[in-house]
Amino acid sequence: GYNRVLEIHKKHLSPVVTAFFQKPLLLHQGHMEWLFDAEGNRYLDFFSGIVTVSVGHCHPKVNAVAQKQLGRLWHTSAIFFHAPIHEYAEKLAALLPEPLKVIFLVNSGSEANDLAMLMARAHSNNIEIISFRGAYHGCSPYTLGLTNVGTYKMELPGGIGCQPTMCPDVFRGPWGGSHCRDSPVQTIRKCSCAPDCCQAKDLYIEQFKDMLNTSVAKSIAGFFAEPIQGVNGVVQYPKGFLKEAFELVRARGGVCIADEVQTGFGRLGSHFWGFQTHDVLPDIVTMAKGIGNGFPMAAVVTTPEIAKSLAKRLQHFNTFGGNPLACAVGSAVLEVIKEENLQGNSQEVGTYMLLKFAKLKDEFEIVGDVRGKGLMIGIEMVQDKKSRQPLPQEEVNKIHEDCKNMGLLVGKGGIFAQTFRIAPPMCITKLEADFAVEVFHSALTQHME
Ligand code: PMP
Repeated sequence: GYNRVLEIHKKHLSPVVTAFFQKPLLLHQGHMEWLFDAEGNRYLDFFSGIVTVSVGHCHPKVNAVAQKQLGRLWHTSAIFFHAPIHEYAEKLAALLPEPLKVIFLVNSGSEANDLAMLMARAHSNNIEIISFRGAYHGCSPYTLGLTNVGTYKMELPGGIGCQPTMCPDVFRGPWGGSHCRDSPVQTIRKCSCAPDCCQAKDLYIEQFKDMLNTSVAKSIAGFFAEPIQGVNGVVQYPKGFLKEAFELVRARGGVCIADEVQTGFGRLGSHFWGFQTHDVLPDIVTMAKGIGNGFPMAAVVTTPEIAKSLAKRLQHFNTFGGNPLACAVGSAVLEVIKEENLQGNSQEVGTYMLLKFAKLKDEFEIVGDVRGKGLMIGIEMVQDKKSRQPLPQEEVNKIHEDCKNMGLLVGKGGIFAQTFRIAPPMCITKLEADFAVEVFHSALTQHME
């Protein structure tokens, strides 16, 4: 029974991971956008195992391909060739613009970003890596230096160094506080700009330049950015910011890395990759999560030149990366995205749903902001629209739990865990979007009573 599960969990599984919900969900089965718990209750999955199940749980085509490959060959290690890796490499490369054509296959987003850091340092001959406040790029000891959100970045003896810089957050302002002058969380210093600062791309660029002129950043190796911040609560940057930031980084000899772990593979609808929505061309692109629909795989794609710089300096090896099973699954995922027009569906259903969620802002004072792109949507909860103080954690948790009890799973994120995150498998329908908005509306109504 459930109590036995709790006992085993407590005894044998690390307490470092905190589960969603007071009574954590014990999941048993998945089918496309649906999940079923051990008691047979059904949930519409609007978080996809943290933005990972891209084409649907146990998608029949992906499963069939995986089963076929399982019976043929699982593992060779990277020192041998096999057909699935070449088929996959060609398919993936075709989706990226020139000169991003060289692929390294790994097993997780953290590993992909670790490798991207090595590449940036090997290629630039520099040391410093820059990432935004609020960024999440992984939890490996190396990428933890890049991650600047919540409590992930713990204080370890010796520190975990990298250079965090302000995040040009359209809603909260560059220092990530409640908003500008009366920020409750003073990450560095108060933002002194006007309340409408968040449209002020130029101001943020000035701050970015200041940071680049500090002594630390003078030897910049690389700059990491998520096209939209995921873990930080679907945070978007002012239009044009990333393009200018990339130019500034390159002018100092650094390389630009787009972390597409959440934003890639058509989730944003209008484009296959998030960097395309900013009209930039990165030097390195990292991807994971949706790449394998839940199968552990990830990739780093870069230019022949950068790939050569790394090879000149290091031998790099990975036992499981690019294994036949992962590559077969990856190919099937790409085929399904194309065959079922899932990028188009993300665009259509995402746009439709964003508008519907945005209407809640007029009705509820505690809905501070509704934002996002395609099927990556954030709903930021506040005490009131004017102060933008985050809604207290217990209240956010209550709404979150109420949604679950009505059959809808959504995510949470942000520095105060104040933002609901909506990122369903890309196969959802408008009808299901309607259901999700209705459930969320009911949970908010209950909350206000
Ligand atoms: N980058 C981004 C943008 C992420 O959201 C995550 C995971 N939340 C990672 C990297 C790390 O990926 P993984 O958990 O597979 O190591």
